[in-house]
Amino acid sequence: MLGAAAVRRILHCDMDSFYASVHIRDDPSLEGKPVIIGGSPKGRGVVAAASYEVRKYGVHSAMPAARAVRLCPHAVFIKPDFSRYRAESQEIFDIFRRFTTVIQPVSIDEAYLDVSDHLEPWGSGTAAAKEIKRQVKQERGLTVSVGVGPNRLIAKIASDFDKPDGLTVVKPGRVHAFLDPMSVRSLPGVGPATERRIKRAGIETIGELRAEPLDRLEQLFGRHGSTLYRYARGIDERPVRMRHTRKSLSTERTYAEDLEQLEEMDAEIDRLSEKVAASLQKKELSACTLTVKIRYGDFTTLTRSRTLDGPTNEPAVIAGHARELLRQSEVGKRSVRLLGVGASNLVRGNIAQLELFA
Ligand SMILES: [Mg+2]
Repeated sequence: MLGAAAVRRILHCDMDSFYASVHIRDDPSLEGKPVIIGGSPKGRGVVAAASYEVRKYGVHSAMPAARAVRLCPHAVFIKPDFSRYRAESQEIFDIFRRFTTVIQPVSIDEAYLDVSDHLEPWGSGTAAAKEIKRQVKQERGLTVSVGVGPNRLIAKIASDFDKPDGLTVVKPGRVHAFLDPMSVRSLPGVGPATERRIKRAGIETIGELRAEPLDRLEQLFGRHGSTLYRYARGIDERPVRMRHTRKSLSTERTYAEDLEQLEEMDAEIDRLSEKVAASLQKKELSACTLTVKIRYGDFTTLTRSRTLDGPTNEPAVIAGHARELLRQSEVGKRSVRLLGVGASNLVRGNIAQLELFA
């Protein structure tokens, strides 16, 4: 039999409307107002984040700003300030690190914490969660919703249960009671399409899903059937992974014959930029800093970098900057044996569309 120590205490911490909250904290005149972080509604901008006041009007992130302003004409529009969000995120993660070293960042404002082996001096996962909320509020003036559970699945669903400023604790013996009344949509990985398929099978709630035998779920949902079977029971053995947040990403190429012409170098830069953009998009990251690496025929190597106004993972945008950086070298006068394009200062999210800010 497993001892009590085998029960994990996992916290999922998720900042409440993070971008908007940072602006509201720093400008109290925004308090209680519908705030939209995003591009100009007059241009082709999109909504990057919305305060809780504005969500009531049906405004949500990734919506065109022009549409958002029709739904909520008195909304206050604020241009995003990603360097500010990154700095704030670091302060908040520094607080998380006081509680455990076992942290898995999910995004700029969201992380899993495994506090199982770090319960002293707080005494319990619940006490640790309360203390995290208190420290974030006191030191950063922001609220964080925390879910506490025996695994990542339960902690994640719990943090979303009572937002904003929520604290939901699910004891191991209460997992079924917690999940059963919920819509299947509450399970991670169940999007609108899967939800429709599950409902077509006559299943609405997680409790009803739990009543289905494994072979029926496998018949209906293929290899996802067994995941649904386990999730419906609140079973999730994925560990909290302390993966290091990727700091940079780059690609380079050495040429069999040195490049002499600027046009051929531009063509190579475009190709490398496309590759970098594709890996960023695949990993759902965007870059705030771009670097070009150049090695001349005599093996002298140099790099040229620039930090952008906002993050991007658009191939054309990356290539545009990379071509300009290339021109800050002696290319054209000297032959080149290697070119590279790198992305660093990475943030979570496919937020390429934010480049459309007017
Ligand atoms: Mg959040």
